[in-house]
Amino acid sequence: MTPLSDEEDVRLALETLRREIRSHEYRYYVENRPSITDADFDRLLKRLEELETRYPNLITEDSPTQRVGGAPVEGFQTFHHKIPLLSLQNVYSLPELQEFYNRIAKNTTSPPLFVGELKIDGLSISLHYRDGTLQRAVTRGDGEKGDDVTSNIRTIRSLPLHIPEGGSVEARGEVYLPRDSFETMNRLREERGEEPFANPRNGAAGTVHLLDPREVSNRHLEIFLYSLFFDGAEPRPSHRENLSLLRELGFRTNPLSRSLSSFQEMTEFIEEAGRLRDSLDYDVDGIVFKVDDIAAQKALSSTSKFPRWAVAFKFPPEEGISRILSIQLQVGRTGAVTPVANLEPLRLAGSTVSRATLHNAEEIRRKDIRVGDWVWVVKSGDVIPKVTAVVKERREGNETPFTMPDLCPICASPLEKPEGEVVWRCPNLSCPARLRESLLHFVSRDAMNIDGFGEALVDQLLEKGMVKDPADLYTLRLDELETLERMGRKSGAKILNALQESKKNPLARLINGLGIRLVGEVTARDLAMRFPTLEALSSATQEELLTVPEVGEKVAQSLRSFFSDPSNLTLLEKLAEVGVSPSPPEPSQQLSLPWKGMKFVFTGELPSLERREAEAMVRSLGGEATGSVSGKTSFVVAGEAAGSKLAKALSLKVPVLSQEEFLRLFQEAGGSWEQG
Ligand SMILES: [Zn+2]
Repeated sequence: MTPLSDEEDVRLALETLRREIRSHEYRYYVENRPSITDADFDRLLKRLEELETRYPNLITEDSPTQRVGGAPVEGFQTFHHKIPLLSLQNVYSLPELQEFYNRIAKNTTSPPLFVGELKIDGLSISLHYRDGTLQRAVTRGDGEKGDDVTSNIRTIRSLPLHIPEGGSVEARGEVYLPRDSFETMNRLREERGEEPFANPRNGAAGTVHLLDPREVSNRHLEIFLYSLFFDGAEPRPSHRENLSLLRELGFRTNPLSRSLSSFQEMTEFIEEAGRLRDSLDYDVDGIVFKVDDIAAQKALSSTSKFPRWAVAFKFPPEEGISRILSIQLQVGRTGAVTPVANLEPLRLAGSTVSRATLHNAEEIRRKDIRVGDWVWVVKSGDVIPKVTAVVKERREGNETPFTMPDLCPICASPLEKPEGEVVWRCPNLSCPARLRESLLHFVSRDAMNIDGFGEALVDQLLEKGMVKDPADLYTLRLDELETLERMGRKSGAKILNALQESKKNPLARLINGLGIRLVGEVTARDLAMRFPTLEALSSATQEELLTVPEVGEKVAQSLRSFFSDPSNLTLLEKLAEVGVSPSPPEPSQQLSLPWKGMKFVFTGELPSLERREAEAMVRSLGGEATGSVSGKTSFVVAGEAAGSKLAKALSLKVPVLSQEEFLRLFQEAGGSWEQG
């Protein structure tokens, strides 16, 4: 670049550079649509910094380099709001909302038009611009006066420090902590032995009040703006138009806001938002309905506490505080041992919750969760309720820490934890807790395909102690079966016949039926192609296993671990003794890989599948699991707190699946899996 001589040239160059950087910031942080690479952006910013270092007298307050100011502040100044920030009247039911609607309809001449907006669970903030430059950011406080937190709010990258509008401008909005930033922050806090924040709202409030803007900058706050005043008045005649103006000025507004012209449409919007809220990367605790027409707002006026022209419809609370009465271990089908908290019952998201998952022992240790503790419990949508944080102030001293036992609580086998994993597992296939599900899997259509076995029959067989493992099925006698409920001679004989026939099943069916972790129908078929007998498979080395397509380190390890467990070997012997001798596959048999060429991207936390499990499922059908969303992505599977990948999928119109939909698709494609 040519050296700049004249100071006026420098000033102009700086302004051009700043304008360019601002437009890229807007594209990146507000529109989510960058037009240059991060590296190119960094180069622009660096060039600006260099120039400003050489000409410090030309640094302006609204320069993109000035987001993170220098030194920490001592405390916060109190600022009196010129226009009070009133809170909104809350309603909790549709009849109450209907009352609000009727009152408005009665007091307006034409049928009222409303704007529905998501109520972001964050912190209200008022921003003051003078002649285009951000001067002051003030928290809502008590509505009359709040804290001046300008240096912290400036760190929000999507917030323009400069707007193309002169005079005195006030914009109001909600500052929040995106869910992934919240998770990251809490993990860090726990590692440092600090208290985790109970929810993103508390996290946002805590962050906005930090004294060091550099620390705030690392936490990645976000903001949505929702109202605008020029010299104390709304600049345009309707709320909708003011929202558009906010966008024109470069502010970020929530894209899900909507105009609503009837009570019916209001209720539909509530339903839709309720469905969407788990897939958003911020917490939403309700819907705000505002009368659109500003003149009508003025006519309706405000009480001393609330404006009469707006209302907040609150969703049933998704979080609450309860006490842990005990911690119990649950053994799943693959032997995964999950600690579960028994709670004093509480109402969450419209239902009574008395149990919540604690995920694993590592999580309990990190969060220092003890029996007797008061804890925050969160339940969103259909997801299993979970404990997020301990209320340590309420400890009385008699709370007992949890220790993970060495043995399975059901069958007393020593528990195992593969290196690098956090989940402990019971390795014993005959563990009674696993047995029921294992039996159902063994007889299922994709595995040994034995007709006549429903849950009711399997439960009876287990209750009466007639079956202790899948091999025992083959020793059942007709006179025994006849003693069972709803079982006649004819249906008993049919079942025995189905059992008899299954003994000659292809080897792949038996391998699948054994329920080896990470080994589904397709992998079982691959394995059967390579190892013609169960003996050959059970004695295969890790290296030999790795030669099979679709078998990676994890699958090979899982197979080795299965075939080195004495109780599993006993089962195999028993199966051979009762005459289960599977037929080797025909050499002509083709592998079926129904998902070949398909690309899946997982984002967010899935309700019950671990990420790598889900990815292995995709691979088991020949599909590919990739890390980033592009036009070539076939499906995005989105869980809780899905972030930018979900947004990208929506913008590229890539179909988005829930875990449930993914599992259905997987099953329909012939996949078989057992959840840990
Ligand atoms: Zn067990």
